[in-house]
Amino acid sequence: MADITSFETLDMEIENVGGKPVVLEALWGGDTRGWSLLLYVYTVSGFSFTKRTTRHFLGHVALPEEMEQFTDGRPSVSFLAEQFGSSASKKYNLTFYFPSPKHADEDCPTWEERHLAITCADCHKLIIPTDSPYLPKDICYDCHLTRERDKELKDDEPCDEGVHMYMCKDGEYEHLGYSTYFDSFTIAPFIDEKVKKRLTKNPVDVVELGREDIIELKCKLEDALSEKLKSYTKPVINERMRKFLITDTIEYKGKDYEITRNSNHEHMEISNFIYSVQTAEKAIAGNYIYKIYFKNGFTYRDDHFLRFIHYVCQGATNIVNINSEHKHILTDTEIMRTLKKLEQVHCVTIYNGEVSITQMGRCLVS
Ligand SMILES: [Zn+2]
Repeated sequence: MADITSFETLDMEIENVGGKPVVLEALWGGDTRGWSLLLYVYTVSGFSFTKRTTRHFLGHVALPEEMEQFTDGRPSVSFLAEQFGSSASKKYNLTFYFPSPKHADEDCPTWEERHLAITCADCHKLIIPTDSPYLPKDICYDCHLTRERDKELKDDEPCDEGVHMYMCKDGEYEHLGYSTYFDSFTIAPFIDEKVKKRLTKNPVDVVELGREDIIELKCKLEDALSEKLKSYTKPVINERMRKFLITDTIEYKGKDYEITRNSNHEHMEISNFIYSVQTAEKAIAGNYIYKIYFKNGFTYRDDHFLRFIHYVCQGATNIVNINSEHKHILTDTEIMRTLKKLEQVHCVTIYNGEVSITQMGRCLVS
């Protein structure tokens, strides 16, 4: 089916279907490649007793190359669909039916299923009620997630999970990895004792590994890797399996290793170890240090505010804007208390009502 990038393409598809178009329908569909916005037309043929309505799939809305994926926080394809719908309504005097223009949502009814639908209590869009026992019946999934997020924000629950690791020199930061727990890093068992000794229990705890630490780490990693490589076996892959397996060739100490990316735990370990050795080599050669960021006593609200300033406001905003964006959930006092806390732990600076994220703040949410 056609990629519909203009009203002309859509119009051609409608003409190809034939019959009298009465409804143009835009519905979201999702698969492993992501969301797509599908267009259908309902046409009427025959008269009185033989009158029949038929639904035809026309294609999916596709963005012209120069267009960004999102416009004002909404998927850009939905703006295109609205333009197409308005042009089609004018030309054919049809009904344009687009139940979820703001968010991609698979739970909306088709035009013919409208009588089975309810109106979401929060955003008022039509939805087929969920049959999941774990989800509320009166709101859509997006509004359910929004309510959950608002509750986390209001309740200010603890949120200390998440450790970031960077390689740094002269104000330059290269992100090496993120893990929910420190123990999940490949290098964790080799630096565990050192890191624990250096933890201070500050609200934001930054443990540094200097040149000598990284040289020692590299030696330990190389020893462990050479043990693992003793039992390395090259994957035997027949043609049928080749379709399902992803392989890579990695060079280490002048030898090539073919690594199966999915389904082989030993190979994934070898790959992670080689990456860790190479990173340590780069750090030693370039005089970088490692910085590992831990949180103690952080909350969802702290984390949310840092992300809001960093991602939504591109690093800087003012208190008036933060208050107005959160007034439906938080009081001005709650907001000010959170900002002061973030200032105390050097994640933001506040000056004359202007709030800016610091390098420390960026390192916690990048
Ligand atoms: Zn809703």
